[in-house]
Amino acid sequence: MDKTEHIYDIGIIGGGTAGMTAAIYGQRAGKQTVIIEGSTFGGQITSSPNVENYPGIASVSGSEFSMNLLDQATKLGTETVMEQVTGIRDEGSVKVIETAGKEYPCRSIILATGVTHRHLGVPNEERLTGAGVSYCATCDGMFFRGRDVAVVGGGSTALQDAEFLSNYCRKVYLIHRRDEFRGEDSIVKRLEGKENVEFVLNTTVKEIIGNTAVERLILNNKKTGKEYKLEVSGVFIAVGQIPQNEVFADVVKLDESGFILAAEDCVTSHPGIFAAGDCRTKEVRQLTTAAADGAVAALAACKYIAE
Ligand code: NAP
Repeated sequence: MDKTEHIYDIGIIGGGTAGMTAAIYGQRAGKQTVIIEGSTFGGQITSSPNVENYPGIASVSGSEFSMNLLDQATKLGTETVMEQVTGIRDEGSVKVIETAGKEYPCRSIILATGVTHRHLGVPNEERLTGAGVSYCATCDGMFFRGRDVAVVGGGSTALQDAEFLSNYCRKVYLIHRRDEFRGEDSIVKRLEGKENVEFVLNTTVKEIIGNTAVERLILNNKKTGKEYKLEVSGVFIAVGQIPQNEVFADVVKLDESGFILAAEDCVTSHPGIFAAGDCRTKEVRQLTTAAADGAVAALAACKYIAE
């Protein structure tokens, strides 16, 4: 195993909003930080077509927002590594981040792993992923120009996806299991004014049908109990997020849903290891609270190192 000679002050696992904010605060406090990210720098917000609720920025695309963050962090001297973290361990004064081929010794660690897409768990969902089933409207929406698609979910992601897709697609069905949306009311109002958007409420997806690509959905109206077909070429699934913290479970305590147990101070059950953003137990999972956590965790890590 290749072990870096250098000991970083703060090793940050996850390059989303929380992780990159932590790096900015760490670097500005004179600490050497490294961010280790397994897939996309920017995290979940990169797939948000338009962010309209970050204070001081009226409107910005998720990808521009995250590129600005990455730019800011790296210009301050943050090192970035694109590798999947396989575990962490404590060797006393040094904590080690393990990846498949390397080890990164650090004085403190911030876990900022975010969350990943929840799947519906219906027949053919996995088989047709990439063939009409998508978890990212911003990434895949253009492939469905002029066609009929469905979005599943009732949170802000589903609402934003429906709005984004309505600009390209002939028809967008927004399928939600209840008759009330969880996401922002202002977007619901905008969608109500769109001629090519139709709300399909109190309804769940029972099955996705298609040979080599999505052809239709089998829906179930929960009020009437009626099952029926809906012809669509694409289905965008936006039914929330789940944590991915199993590899840290032997070092920090998780709750029953897999979130890292940590309060607003971002302190975990293990000294010197902090948790920031959506991966920790918290009430409000927003861009602003992820950024706030990044700052809190970085300053807590600086204090830990000093002590
Ligand atoms: P979310 O708020 O958790 O919403 C998930 C939606 O999916 C809910 O409406 C839920 O229904 C539904 N759902 C869950 N499991 C389902 C299932 N098995 N079948 C059918 N429907 C199911 O998730 P999100 O929309 O991804 O948002 C995550 C967080 O990011 C939220 O805090 C959100 O505000 C934030 N966000 C912010 C922005 C931004 O621009 N700043 C953009 C997107 C998201 P119920 O309502 O019935 O539970």
